[in-house]
Amino acid sequence: MSSQQSVAFTQYDLPLPANSPLPPYPHPVTPSSYGCAVDRRDMYQGDHCCIICLTIARKGVLRAHIVSPKEENDTWQFLRGGGYIPHQAQPPSKEPRNALTFCYEHYNAFKEYKFFIRYLPHPINRYILVNISDSEGMQEHHMRALYLDPANQLCPFPGALLVHELRARSQNPYRNLIDPSSRIQLSDVPWVKDVQSIPEGPFSRVVRRITRSKE
Ligand SMILES: [Zn+2]
Repeated sequence: MSSQQSVAFTQYDLPLPANSPLPPYPHPVTPSSYGCAVDRRDMYQGDHCCIICLTIARKGVLRAHIVSPKEENDTWQFLRGGGYIPHQAQPPSKEPRNALTFCYEHYNAFKEYKFFIRYLPHPINRYILVNISDSEGMQEHHMRALYLDPANQLCPFPGALLVHELRARSQNPYRNLIDPSSRIQLSDVPWVKDVQSIPEGPFSRVVRRITRSKE
């Protein structure tokens, strides 16, 4: 693999600059019904599922806001004004690109800042999980790619994820699990679950399409 197929794992300092250093969100943002849109995006065999362990809805899943609508309206306005998220973004409570589906365990881990999710742009083009707390329960998922399709017009806002990441870093200020000077190559980023272990269904078709387009 050539060195061109890698990206720097940039670490962002606080305070964030007024204008976003992130690549612009690549899709048009049109209003979508929040719950249905999240459930359709995080789909597995006709049911919505945890994006980490693929636990399906009837076994218990929750939608988690990335930026909390109740407490962080100012944060949302900052992100929108600075171009971290598109100007057309809906309010945080109604924006499906501000939400992720988790099982109970991973919902709690996300809310407790045990891990964060970083979108790595082209040529990696994947959402990866970083176990910033070095939690034993999250270790098997560290530096693995989630089955969130960046080509999906409802894919999560990287700018919203960055806010969660910086909070997670502040909760674990003594840990740095990724050398900030390192570059990440596609070969460094395995899927969070083995593609072969995913039964046939809408989700497996997405996985195959992403895999084919990137490898
Ligand atoms: Zn899970």
